[in-house]
Amino acid sequence: MTEEPLANPHFWTEVVVTTPAHSGLGPTLGYWSERPLAPGTLVRVPLGTREVLGMVWDAPAEPPSPELEALARPVQQVLHELAPLDQRWRQLVAFAARYYQRSLGEMALAALPPQLRELNSEQLQRRLKKRKAVETHATALPQGPALSPEQAEALGKLEQTSKPVLLFGATGSGKTEVYLRAVQDMLARDPQAQALVMVPEINLTPQLEARFAERFPAGSVVSLHSGLTPAQRLGNWLSAHLGQARIVLGTRMAVLASLPRLRLIVVDEEHDPSYKSQEGARYSARDLAVYRAHLGADDGPCQVLLGSATPSLESWYAAQQGRYLRLTMPQRVGGGAWPRLRLVDMNHQPKHTVLAPALIQAMADRAARGEQSMVLLNRRGYAPVLACHDCGWKSNCPHCSAHTVFHKIDRTLRCHHCGHTTRVPRACPECGNLDITPMGRGTEQIEEQLAGLLADARRPDGSPVRVARIDADTTRAKGSLESRLADMHAGEVDVLVGTQMIAKGHDFRRITLVASVNTDSGLFASDYRAPERLFSLLLQAAGRAGRDAAFVAEQGSSVELWVQTWYPQHPLFAALAKHDYPTFAEQQLSEREAAQMPPYAYQALVRAEARTQEAAQALLTLAAQASDGLPGREQLTLYPAVPMAIQRVANVERAQMLVESTSRPALQAFLAAWQDTLHSLRGLPETRGVIRWAIDVDPLTI
Ligand SMILES: [Zn+2]
Ligand SMILES: [Zn+2]
Repeated sequence: MTEEPLANPHFWTEVVVTTPAHSGLGPTLGYWSERPLAPGTLVRVPLGTREVLGMVWDAPAEPPSPELEALARPVQQVLHELAPLDQRWRQLVAFAARYYQRSLGEMALAALPPQLRELNSEQLQRRLKKRKAVETHATALPQGPALSPEQAEALGKLEQTSKPVLLFGATGSGKTEVYLRAVQDMLARDPQAQALVMVPEINLTPQLEARFAERFPAGSVVSLHSGLTPAQRLGNWLSAHLGQARIVLGTRMAVLASLPRLRLIVVDEEHDPSYKSQEGARYSARDLAVYRAHLGADDGPCQVLLGSATPSLESWYAAQQGRYLRLTMPQRVGGGAWPRLRLVDMNHQPKHTVLAPALIQAMADRAARGEQSMVLLNRRGYAPVLACHDCGWKSNCPHCSAHTVFHKIDRTLRCHHCGHTTRVPRACPECGNLDITPMGRGTEQIEEQLAGLLADARRPDGSPVRVARIDADTTRAKGSLESRLADMHAGEVDVLVGTQMIAKGHDFRRITLVASVNTDSGLFASDYRAPERLFSLLLQAAGRAGRDAAFVAEQGSSVELWVQTWYPQHPLFAALAKHDYPTFAEQQLSEREAAQMPPYAYQALVRAEARTQEAAQALLTLAAQASDGLPGREQLTLYPAVPMAIQRVANVERAQMLVESTSRPALQAFLAAWQDTLHSLRGLPETRGVIRWAIDVDPLTI
């Protein structure tokens, strides 16, 4: 390598490094380099007293001002070994930073594997030497099972469209086979192409990995998720970036992987809230996947396929408008029967019943025949709504089509939409009942009671019935989830109790009964998306039952979904009984349209954290007052600041403010300008004690 002559040493280079938004630094920092560096090149640069990883960004060749020119320092090291990250990747990152209101550097650097930050040029070289390309000969790929007519039709249409595709397929309709075939077809056309396949949760990756590893040559499939060791993650990321891996499987972080030959993106369970990041840059991996596909590839288009049995209303609406192409696969492969809905009206149960006697009996009967049951606990972080079980009263906001949230700290009921606040009533305002309680109370007792109530039940061999629990608490130890699942598959367990973790993906063969026992907290949560999530959860859980048609026929059993509820007349259940998602979606969309809520409007939530609730709210209130005249302001509604549903965490007070508009560009322009306002308010006497604030664009809970 020849050194540049000293007479002409310096090229102006703009670099992104990790700086929080509003550090006072611009989106890029200027440095001097000994030779011109292509955008996307990784470099190590001085920042204050440290040396950090940075990335050369698209910028003019000249310093923007003499002041900046004078301040600039030289690039310390260029990581030449690694090809620059390509233009589409940079466009994706720049878009994500802009849209989700984060700094460019934070977005770009957070998208890289953490270990990359630590490596110098020599260490990186050693890592790269170990890697070798895996040849994929499309002709050698095995054929896989014969396709159902629905699967074949979906694949045919997929090939003919350039729109984003929404694959609306019932649970068990064989969506995964469609994904496999779509990837296979793509590799047959272009053996150099790459595919990205995303799933919402880590515990779903092993089974998907197994399906792909069966079909494609060893080494052509890599995964990207937070369960990998730093070294594995770097290795897999490099395989993708170098174009060695053909297929990347991963969770939401994988959408930001560098895939220079990307031609197909699959987002499985596209409705799943796990695709929305809940910290740092709060991006939606599903939405970024659609944007990434829209950017295309060097030698042709990039296709995006969103799959779900219960699509998000956003995607459903996009398909209705013709922006997405909807493909439908209503049949279960193998003719598995759809579970029959059995509603248990809790109004007609003995007082203080947690588990209905008929349900217990049904589970005992099944265990005696060697069949399994699954009990679903609905425990997503729904904000509590107060209810009276005697007359059906619920804490509603008088101004909004929303329920007010019970705040335990100061015993108030608050609307998270408009801010309306009242004291918690002593008794039910309608009937005077003193026993008004937050919905969903009593879940803790369910497991305890279940074991007791099943104490006399017997398995076919006369031994006692076995109950196992799967949730975040019981599966923290490494391998414990796998071993519990294995017990279930092996028939060691008769009744499996768990949260939404057990509702997804698992192919249990002997389950003939699925029960949802604390359903109502999802039905009347303060969050307007709660019914959508509940429907999806129940349908997904129901899909765990009756998967083995031959087993069901042999047993002569009926496959059932039991739902305990105080509100059996709710229209959600009528749609659920017919597993009719389209009707449910229509109901929800017309309610959303009437209330001008997403997808008919766009939202952002500003959350502030402070030592006191007053300071957190003051920051938001002052920022709202100072927002007149900002771009887009007249097309926006700013609601009053309210405490968050979980108001205090580790002695930090939290408040939020909802910003709404029917114009996405207006909302975007406003937020970008408003950040400066928010920043300028720190340091005022009223906002003393403010720790941080953050903007959540397209929030999933309000
Ligand atoms: Zn009442
Ligand atoms: Zn309200």
